[in-house]
Amino acid sequence: MQEFLSAIQSGASGEEIAAIPIPESYRAAFVSRDEVELFHGMASDDKDPRKSLHVGEVSVPELAPDEAYVAVMASAINFNTVWTSIFEPLSTFGFLDRLGRESEWGSRHALAEHVVGSDASGVVVRVGTAVRNWKPGDRVTIHCNYVDDQSPSAHDDSMRADNQRIWGYETNFGGLADLTLVKANQLMPKPAHLSWEESAINALCNSTSYRMLVSRNGAAMSQGQRVLIWGASGGLGAYAVQYVLNGGGVPIGVVSSPEKVDLLHELGVEAVIDRRAAGYRFWKDDHTQDEAEWRRLGKDIRALVGDDVDIVFEHPGRQTMGASVFAAKRGGIVMTCAATSGYMIEYDNRHLWMKLKTIKGSHFANYREAWDANQLVCDGKVLPPLSALYPLDEVGDAVYQVHHNLHEGKIGVLCLAPEEGLGVDDPEFRSRVGEDRINLFRRHKA
Ligand code: NAP
Repeated sequence: MQEFLSAIQSGASGEEIAAIPIPESYRAAFVSRDEVELFHGMASDDKDPRKSLHVGEVSVPELAPDEAYVAVMASAINFNTVWTSIFEPLSTFGFLDRLGRESEWGSRHALAEHVVGSDASGVVVRVGTAVRNWKPGDRVTIHCNYVDDQSPSAHDDSMRADNQRIWGYETNFGGLADLTLVKANQLMPKPAHLSWEESAINALCNSTSYRMLVSRNGAAMSQGQRVLIWGASGGLGAYAVQYVLNGGGVPIGVVSSPEKVDLLHELGVEAVIDRRAAGYRFWKDDHTQDEAEWRRLGKDIRALVGDDVDIVFEHPGRQTMGASVFAAKRGGIVMTCAATSGYMIEYDNRHLWMKLKTIKGSHFANYREAWDANQLVCDGKVLPPLSALYPLDEVGDAVYQVHHNLHEGKIGVLCLAPEEGLGVDDPEFRSRVGEDRINLFRRHKA
């Protein structure tokens, strides 16, 4: 892969890149099938991704006609890699085996190692014979919606496809590696004003937040609407607050430290709640919620923005869902895409039906949505919330940070890129967007 790196750094043409031989193996971060019982019986918090995630050489899979190999310059940590590395709620090898049974090409994925990672930026180095829109040398980011386009179910909203999968979680050959194998319809242009690592962190969380808030498949927020955003300085939240601000809405960001409150203020969010300082106890014990605490949250929101919220951006799950359903205004919508604190949810249904509220599920984004969200990054309208950077060899440490909520925004990972700051193709536009704004999360963490 070093030959590809040298070619990319020296500005080699697409033809020159296409002439470099694909190696037999490449460096990748993976979990092993023979270790799925590693943490058996342990509490979630004690399961240590640094023990289960390995970095080593794996074989290069064969290229299907509709696929591309991409030399990965940088990648990012997503929460799904936390789930894979602690084997919760289940081992991801089951996903690979199911894909393996679907087709001959699918069978490449059912291996003894699962190469993880659902974000990347890099350079296309080879395309399959059926690929029309991309060629070697193209600088790209990758979204994680992996869809079989021969299924009729994939041709309305591809997120509703029967066999929709998330690349690097429900498929093999993910982005935390020096090389990745993706479908050509996962590729998107790399933002020219951003470095490899700033470009790599966006696709998964940015597209998810876009669908939840902007798309007609989500809440389709309109101007002036108030939006409660849990984890507002985290991976999803850092994009969600930008979409609400860009769309003329009023974000109410919830975070858990004074530093995060400052960060959101700097990002332009005026209404911020420090949930730790507020000391909400939505659950009195493991089985009983406290409506008085929901009311206290509602009162705090009204004190900040003068009314209840039209939309709740929900992902913590069990800990917050009761409060979220309560906090949404009459006719409001709770958009949910996850359940970090537990997926067996409890809420008071009277508040839902009597006040005509809706709970709507959302999951990643279709190609159109991912493309539009990527374009907003390319246009400098959505900023990359990169807060920290790790080399691929230390991927376990990076995942540990996310597992224990020690991070802000997104953590980037350098794969082939030997150092940070490389890959900026349009420095003039970068300075117009503003170095300070692009580096906001980094500066804040420093
Ligand atoms: P993240 O970077 O860890 O951010 C999550 C934030 O949620 C944290 O910063 C934390 O903020 C807040 N939080 C955590 N536990 C909480 C609790 N018990 N109560 C209130 N707030 C809590 O993770 P992320 O990338 O935003 O992802 C969040 C979840 O969404 C994960 O479960 C992930 O797997 C899922 N996800 C789903 C999709 C999809 O397509 N379905 C896409 C992306 C992510 P504070 O501590 O500051 O409050």
